Amino acid sequence: MSTTTVTPVELTRDQVPEHLTWNLSSIYANNQEWEREFAEVAASIPSLARFDGKIKTSAETLAEALLARDQVLGLVDKLYVYASMRSDQDTANDLYKGMFARIRSLAIKASETSSYIHPQLLKIAKSKLKSWIAANDTLKLYKVEIDDLFRQKKHYLPAAQESLLAQAEELFDAGGTAYSSLTESDFEYPSFTDDQGNTHQLTGSNFTVLLDHPNRSVRRGAFEGVMGLYGKFNNTFSATYAANVKANIFKKNARGYASCREMAMFDINVPVSVYDSLIETVHSNLPKLHRYIALRRKTLGLPDLHFYDLYCPLVPDVDFKMSFNDACELILKAVAPLGPEYVATLRKGLFELRWADVLPNKNKADGAYSGGSYLTDPFMLLNWHETLDAIYTLIHEAGHSMHSWFTRRNQPKPTGQYTLFVAEVASICNEGLLTAHLLKTVTDVNVRKYVLTQAMEGFRGTLYRQALFAEFEMLAYAAAERGEPLTPALLNEIHLGLNQKYYGAEVVIDDQLKYEWSRIPHFYRSFYVYQYSTGISAASALSRQILEEGQPAVDRYLGFLKSGSSKDSLQLLRDAGVDLSTSAPIQQALDLFESYIEEYEKLS
Ligand SMILES: [Zn+2]
Repeated sequence: MSTTTVTPVELTRDQVPEHLTWNLSSIYANNQEWEREFAEVAASIPSLARFDGKIKTSAETLAEALLARDQVLGLVDKLYVYASMRSDQDTANDLYKGMFARIRSLAIKASETSSYIHPQLLKIAKSKLKSWIAANDTLKLYKVEIDDLFRQKKHYLPAAQESLLAQAEELFDAGGTAYSSLTESDFEYPSFTDDQGNTHQLTGSNFTVLLDHPNRSVRRGAFEGVMGLYGKFNNTFSATYAANVKANIFKKNARGYASCREMAMFDINVPVSVYDSLIETVHSNLPKLHRYIALRRKTLGLPDLHFYDLYCPLVPDVDFKMSFNDACELILKAVAPLGPEYVATLRKGLFELRWADVLPNKNKADGAYSGGSYLTDPFMLLNWHETLDAIYTLIHEAGHSMHSWFTRRNQPKPTGQYTLFVAEVASICNEGLLTAHLLKTVTDVNVRKYVLTQAMEGFRGTLYRQALFAEFEMLAYAAAERGEPLTPALLNEIHLGLNQKYYGAEVVIDDQLKYEWSRIPHFYRSFYVYQYSTGISAASALSRQILEEGQPAVDRYLGFLKSGSSKDSLQLLRDAGVDLSTSAPIQQALDLFESYIEEYEKLS
């Protein structure tokens, strides 16, 4: 990130040079082609019901039903990603908005029409299915799906109760819905005046930008303004969060789980011990975090460090301007350790197949993502600007896209996507390779410091911070499951206590920080955030192994990229070389963090 914020003249979509746009016409040559396939798919959906009540009759019928379902859903996905990406390139375009809305409802219809398959499959005896799978090659492709269904079977309820639960789903979401309405629509953000007399209007999206500000009074003003706003609704947020927790407790009781955490993790087949091991290992490595914070305070030249001093860049002015083409060449060098097939494929994707939609334009969706479906190229939406941050974003999204490419090429459709638990591994591993490459090649001290800060912030902001949030959820749920009411006082106290514990004496914990937990929308997706910490740990450990061990590690890693969801997530990572049921990967990641701190200290 550079502090020279030149606002580029914003292009309209039709002014963007074609070679810097994604080649979505490789999916459908034009909108008429999309319409033609849309009509065909819409007409074919009712026929999915033809196997209703029949899949138990033979292996062939079951296989036929699953294939027919996936054929239709595959095309639905393809239609969906085309419309959604077209819509993202210009969100004000009503034609694409309309196409997107139509395919969304068609997708719901398709999954409703085939929703009888799972319940009916579960009624077939497991031993019978086993022999069917052994004798039928198509069913072999569905072994993962069928096994997973049976794994979950013991927590399913009789049909009438399942139907009641499904009908109550909207009620269960009421806490989260109220939370979003308040924070996204009803909030009135305050403004504040900094020590230079400048007034800043806070918004939902500029808080993190202002926390980066070189002027401390701007950072403090932003912090106090936002925390004060959340504090004003402390009772409401405690009620919306408690409602969400109670809904989960109701579900875990109904389905017979020991705890809500177990329920959330059972769903993705990751044992609770992975969570515990993360928290424990982070606890035993808190001194590293304290050392980093001390370095930060010293570098910023501050007498003490507050929460609002945790984000601003340590080296404000770094000149690392690079054209998109040069950035592509740079990341191709950074991923060279992954071998020629990886490099050649990515090169072709970037330069020839036009996977990336590069430049910002008027009404284009914000941020960056990697998208596409099993039947398309792995496209990337970017909002390119000439900074080092943008190069990291590019190599991150390229990591997702290459994971998708390898998976789709090597797996049949039923296992041709990867789970959320492993999704961030390929992207963050690439970031690690870029950091290593830059540290090897860049001599400019400021740029080196900048690169190191970027890497260290990854560990602080993702590994430690998300572990803190994961622990917050764990403690709040434990209290609620013991029958304690989740009052504002209790939730604030848990959060403040954790911040004191994680940051130790190195950070002055302002009282207002106790409201920060209510800023985290992910808490309405319970026990999700720990995956950010395990993801960055696995990725760091893997990038280390690739660079230190060479070919054997590369082969294991490429094997992982090619495996899709053919095994369960933990096993896939184990095969790649990281065992998240042990503390080793987290420890390796935090050791890497420490090596960056040491390197930075040497440069200071
Ligand atoms: Zn990502």
